[in-house]
Amino acid sequence: MTVYLVGAGPGDPGLLTLRAAEVLARADVVVHDRLAEVSLLDRAPAGAERIDVGKTPGSPVAQEDINSLLVEHGRRGAEVVRLKGGDPFVFGRGGEEALALAAAGVDFEVVPGVTSAVAVPAYAGIPITHRGRATSFTVVTGHRRADLDVDTDWEAVARAGGTVVVLMGVAHRAEIASRLLAGGRDPGTPVAAVTWGTRPEQVTLRTTLAGLGDAPVEPPATIVVGEVAGLDLAWYERRPLFGRSVVVTRARPQASALSARLRDLGARPVEVPAIAVVDPADGGAGLATAASGIPAGRYDWVVLTSANAVGRLCELLPDGRAWAGVRVAAIGPGTAEALAGYRLVADLVPAEHVAEALLAGLLAASPPAHGGPCRALLPRAAVAREVLPAGLRAAGWEVEVVEAYRSVVPEMAPAALEQAGAADAICFTSSSTVTNYLTVAGRERVPPLVACIGPVTAATARDAGLGVGVVAADHTIAGLVAALVGELSGPGGSGGADRKERSPR
Ligand code: SAH
Repeated sequence: MTVYLVGAGPGDPGLLTLRAAEVLARADVVVHDRLAEVSLLDRAPAGAERIDVGKTPGSPVAQEDINSLLVEHGRRGAEVVRLKGGDPFVFGRGGEEALALAAAGVDFEVVPGVTSAVAVPAYAGIPITHRGRATSFTVVTGHRRADLDVDTDWEAVARAGGTVVVLMGVAHRAEIASRLLAGGRDPGTPVAAVTWGTRPEQVTLRTTLAGLGDAPVEPPATIVVGEVAGLDLAWYERRPLFGRSVVVTRARPQASALSARLRDLGARPVEVPAIAVVDPADGGAGLATAASGIPAGRYDWVVLTSANAVGRLCELLPDGRAWAGVRVAAIGPGTAEALAGYRLVADLVPAEHVAEALLAGLLAASPPAHGGPCRALLPRAAVAREVLPAGLRAAGWEVEVVEAYRSVVPEMAPAALEQAGAADAICFTSSSTVTNYLTVAGRERVPPLVACIGPVTAATARDAGLGVGVVAADHTIAGLVAALVGELSGPGGSGGADRKERSPR
């Protein structure tokens, strides 16, 4: 029954504080501004009311109305999160909201946020204080409020020395520059203007105080004036996939690991799941019967070709001793890792992560001690390639193929599809992601660079008429990401090998 005045940080969702995440997770109501990062709102419970009071030009919500809204919901006894960019008390009008709450007798708490004044320069590689260059920093608003006759003494700010950080200063940058010059700052003083800092769109423009007025700065920007702006310790904008957007077509539960990897490399992942995993047609009865055959000694091998199959099968065998008498094969490291999650170590993982290699590995393994034909259980998707069961049967194996799950084509949100169409690259991690994506999104929404996890997926893409720009040498998520880095890194994205094939758009 408290109103929390919470700082959301400057944009990078990783800069949200633990306390902010905690109070968001139990909010009944979230009253938020136009946020740089909308995904932060996903941290609130699905049922929480979300109220956008973003002061978009043209439809402003008056501050008094926001105050009343907070008081009203606070009085009602709801847990209210008032989410604001950066820190709530740094030019965020959080103080006015706290005054209104205090006057109304509504309990409130403040959760400070990482302010853009400090974080944005840091992401641009500018330390706001630096030995020998700045012993102080002054944070000033460049926004002038017609209704309150307050003006900043810019000349005094100039004379104070040190770093000057200007927020909301884009519109008046020429006047700000001339007043700092009037206060005695040197025209050659380095200036950096950072637009959309801590976001994949971050742009740093470097100029001098004399050049600031005419420099093409786009809002929202943090303007840093002072000797420290002459330092260029760029790191964020130097990451190999910085500024690139990459479509991730994996099923929602698996997408996040790939997205996180891409994000760490500076890319903006656009998640458009082209596959969803649902129960098999028989509701899982066949899989349950097969699972009970494992401790009963019905199989010599359990052969797994996807993490989905691992999860669904292992959940049916809660007692680890069930696996005592059977050998386990995994097609690749992702499947092996899923097994490891159940404390099972695969007996066989082929060097190349394709069905043909798995088949060869199984046929080369030592025969079972019982002397009869080798018996294998193959739990897998409803629709899958026949290479493996056909090859095993041809070698005299008894193979039981059981449907562990079905892959279906999910609905794709129009907004996500639009972003996907404008992206730089798309990752396909299986043939069905290719087919499903093309069915729903269409050829015109395939970005210029198509990256496939392996040769089978690539063949499906080519058969569908796509130009495949890159195929992972190592058919894993890490291999796919490495291939993308090779293709996309460097200026203009030509850092890797020549891109021979392009998808027609
Ligand atoms: N309370 C916020 C500041 C609100 S004033 C904080 O502590 O960060 C809004 C101004 O902050 C913008 O006009 C811009 O100058 C700056 N700002 C906010 N987010 C920014 C970002 N991601 N990149 C650059 N500047 C940003």
